[in-house]
Amino acid sequence: MRGLIALLAAFSLLVPVPALAATEPRTGFEKTGKWTTEAEEQAYLRSLGLPVTQIGTTAQGRPLQLVRVGSSSARAVVLFTCSQHGDEPAGREACLIRMRSLPRSSDVTYLFVPNANPDGRVLNTRGNSSGIDINRDHLLLRSAEARAMAAVIRDWQPDVIHDLHEFGPSSPYYVKDVLWLWPRNLNVSSDVHALSETLSRSYVRPSVEAAGRTSGVYGIYVDPVTGEPVRQVAGDGQERILRNTAGLKHAMGLLVETNDSGAPAFRVESHLRALEGTQSFVRDNRSAIEAANAASRAVRSGPVYFGGADNQAPDPSDVLSEPPCGYVLTGAQYREVGDELALHGIRSEYLRGGDRIVPLRQEARALIPLLLDARADGPLVSARPVAQCVNGPAN
Ligand SMILES: [Zn+2]
Repeated sequence: MRGLIALLAAFSLLVPVPALAATEPRTGFEKTGKWTTEAEEQAYLRSLGLPVTQIGTTAQGRPLQLVRVGSSSARAVVLFTCSQHGDEPAGREACLIRMRSLPRSSDVTYLFVPNANPDGRVLNTRGNSSGIDINRDHLLLRSAEARAMAAVIRDWQPDVIHDLHEFGPSSPYYVKDVLWLWPRNLNVSSDVHALSETLSRSYVRPSVEAAGRTSGVYGIYVDPVTGEPVRQVAGDGQERILRNTAGLKHAMGLLVETNDSGAPAFRVESHLRALEGTQSFVRDNRSAIEAANAASRAVRSGPVYFGGADNQAPDPSDVLSEPPCGYVLTGAQYREVGDELALHGIRSEYLRGGDRIVPLRQEARALIPLLLDARADGPLVSARPVAQCVNGPAN
């Protein structure tokens, strides 16, 4: 008997034994089948040993966190924002699971905001504890959650922003397991727009459908018998929605929504398959992504659109065919919104007399009129458009 034990011991030294499943960190959801609690999430993040930074604090005092997988100097950066809507929990669970298995040394940096609305998650509400819908706040930045996200986007300049949500099947025409969508805002550069649509249609769709899910375009009711579109109910070009803001900030944008009438494990698994689609997209399209990102940052001309979408022609009054050179803010206006402009990475210059000018000639060009022009749909402030930026405004 002793000989047999010795033999087994010797054998075990030679044969690589797979890590015991019990020793690997597990989310609360994996252990109990119930959504991971706040305490379980924090214990899990500690046990993974990944770099976690605090990027903000919610109104109720909870930390907003960013988890990084991979080197901080990799060529490509992918940002996952998980469950901005607190009552859409499956995305957060998929993010927590996926961060554990991604390669820690590769040429892609994966960033996760694993719990993008921690107060809303605990309260099980769509908005945060003040009732702000974070996914309608990515321009005005009234919430700590959206401000934290804006700073991450400014500081990391992600190539891809993948935003995880869930939808309720409110209608017999809305029956897919998974819905996906790209930025529809007309100010998104054509290369970023095209590649974002490729990410949805050619990567996320096949990835989830290969796993037996039905999928389709977010926001379009489809006749369940004929498959024909009935009407559009959501998924428009509003710039304050992260999917669109992402495109305006030069990232390939993606919204993924799982149907919340499914079983929790099915929904989490659906999100995991969609995450795989994004990983494949980045692997296959590295140079095209870099080129689209660079081309978007370099855009220096072209009309500005205050309305419309890629599937809806803008009203002529919403097209600014000859945009101003820049916008002048009074000193008082600048004191009011200077922090928000900085969070968006928007540069301004001091003018004699205490005014500031925000020239359109900068990387954030696409965002500036949407924030500062009175004709925009809910601007941050109505600043004065000027035709001449050189040596101060001429008008
Ligand atoms: Zn949502």
